[in-house]
Amino acid sequence: MVKAAGRHEAALSAYLHIPFCERKCIYCDFYSIENLSLREEFVCLLLREIDLKLEASPELAGRPLETIFFGGGTPSLLAPAELETIIHKLTEHFRIAPDVEFTLECNPGTVTLEKLRGYKSLGVNRLSFGVQSFNQEELEYLGRIHDAAQAREAVHLARKAGFDNVSIDLIFALPGQSKETLNHTLDEAISLETDHISAYNLIVERGTPLFRLVQLGKVIELDADRAAELFSIVQNRLVRVGLEQYEISNYAKAPKKRAKHNLVYWDGFKDYVSFGPSAHEFLNGVRRWNASSLEEYSKAIRSGKLPIINQELLTTEERRTEVLYLQLRSTGLLLSQFQEIFGEDLLLDSTVRNFIAEDLMIASNDILRLTTKGYRFCDAIVTRLMEPQQFLIPIV
Ligand code: SF4
Repeated sequence: MVKAAGRHEAALSAYLHIPFCERKCIYCDFYSIENLSLREEFVCLLLREIDLKLEASPELAGRPLETIFFGGGTPSLLAPAELETIIHKLTEHFRIAPDVEFTLECNPGTVTLEKLRGYKSLGVNRLSFGVQSFNQEELEYLGRIHDAAQAREAVHLARKAGFDNVSIDLIFALPGQSKETLNHTLDEAISLETDHISAYNLIVERGTPLFRLVQLGKVIELDADRAAELFSIVQNRLVRVGLEQYEISNYAKAPKKRAKHNLVYWDGFKDYVSFGPSAHEFLNGVRRWNASSLEEYSKAIRSGKLPIINQELLTTEERRTEVLYLQLRSTGLLLSQFQEIFGEDLLLDSTVRNFIAEDLMIASNDILRLTTKGYRFCDAIVTRLMEPQQFLIPIV
């Protein structure tokens, strides 16, 4: 039966958090546990959560999923059969858009050709490998479970399994990282000719083992100038080989290889629903998030409740800040939409005009975006735009 068009037909994205890792990396603050024996039980809880969500929000039923993202944790610890039950549950409640982008995050130390073929047969059409570095010392330091050869092999296996949309994640600005080791990692990454590369500046997050090492003075963080220098190396090298920087940390071989799911997050207005411990969702302007610990998550679901622990409805000022930050750090801010919602013509803002004059921003086709140079100063630029506005009086 063809469903009536209307609000229920509005596109939706789905994030599913798989909270297991073989071993925790020292820098990681995503929620995951190392007790893999709870996996089977977790899949049952996740299926129940999906049902509970739809019972609580029946208006979500039938909406087309345009992007599906299995993140974590390590989703590639799921056997294809487990993934199949989860996908089946999603299809009971949602429609899967014909051109869905369906991403699965993979740890190179957990994949085989058979497993990747299994994922492919279930409709997964994008793989994102957490590689982080091709330098053995750095990989060990970070606590990764794989070596550089496994990372290369994982990408080759993905191609062999028929994936034509493969991404790798890298981390730079590691404590003590030299230009040589970064360049070596970039050489290797470029030679794999993946469709997409994410290159993140290491952030020492509170609560991680790395944070404690820094506090104890056992590890010294790279200073900001040095980190900026390494960012420039990453940016220059990836752009030089023809990758398009479409977000501060993300580079794609072609516009159609941009991470559509992440673009939904960076849009700031689009709906996404989420499942799993610690997952955050955004629906109709309200952000909600789940309990992080698997124990708390499980307790709520077993008693027939959604594991949501909090929600927030942003004020107009907070929305403005968020939209500025999210849209500017990626493909650019939609000027007419911004004016319609917040009542400001940003092209009349003297700060914006100065940024454009300094080649930090560019405005064209109703989009205000950062230039290659501007991406290097993204945080500073957005911070300036959050300050009280200095509008020019238009000349009539
Ligand atoms: S494998 Fe990924 S999710 Fe797991 S601890 Fe390492 S970085 Fe975090």
